[in-house]
Amino acid sequence: MIDLHVHTARCGHASGLLSEYVDAGRAAGLSVLTFTDHLPMPEGYPQHYTMRHDELPAYIAEVRAAAVVSAVRGGPEILCGIEADWLPDHVQWTRDLLGGLDLDMVLGSVHFIEDWAFDDPDLIERYGGWEIDALWDRYFSEVIAAARSGLFDVMAHPDLVKKFGFFAVSDPTDWYENAALAMSEAGCAVEVSTAGLRKPVGEIYPTGALLRACRRRGVPATMGSDSHAPDEVAFGFDRARALLREAGYDSLVVFRDRRAEEVAL
Ligand code: ZN
Ligand code: FE
Ligand code: FE
Ligand code: ZN
Repeated sequence: MIDLHVHTARCGHASGLLSEYVDAGRAAGLSVLTFTDHLPMPEGYPQHYTMRHDELPAYIAEVRAAAVVSAVRGGPEILCGIEADWLPDHVQWTRDLLGGLDLDMVLGSVHFIEDWAFDDPDLIERYGGWEIDALWDRYFSEVIAAARSGLFDVMAHPDLVKKFGFFAVSDPTDWYENAALAMSEAGCAVEVSTAGLRKPVGEIYPTGALLRACRRRGVPATMGSDSHAPDEVAFGFDRARALLREAGYDSLVVFRDRRAEEVAL
């Protein structure tokens, strides 16, 4: 079992010591745990969702040190990744920042539509300014552009737009097919995230139809809890595995040094 999406207290909205996440991973029987805290965003974006710029070296060093300790204690293998925002006006900025970091994996996340962090419960009233199908269309066009940017190894929580249970009225098939096609052509993996089980929508990201579209197009999959507290590590993974099996997956991938390696589901 692998958990490739785990935060740390550095982002300001997660709790617990890094060692507590590792201990939780060991207790859950994980073979691999990849830390993926939030990459800082450029000036002009809110700074309270991410670690500070000057913390990046310490973050990576702390995770690498935890890996050594965890190896001595019999696991899990600890890898160092990051969760980077898709900011279409700052592609080169993001590329330059990521290029200077020693990371095993980069998760790509669409959390913003223009300047709106649409997954922030404090900003939920802004859904009122959108026609829901237009929002879904815009969201998936950002996912597609993010996948095709080449910045990311994995698209995280790829239908996050459903977080608060606001579902498109139109048939979503084309959005799912086009997102799966973009990931396939770009060589991007898809994350199966149990975070949605803890949110108002009460569902895994992505929905079965999107995951099946990914499978048909040969998109590899990862699994993540998006833990923001140690007791969320490996949360709901039985359900994630069941969804993956239903979609036809019998393996996952782990990224080391930005390269995918297959592991059993
Ligand atoms: Zn977070
Ligand atoms: Fe995220
Ligand atoms: Fe996350
Ligand atoms: Zn996340």
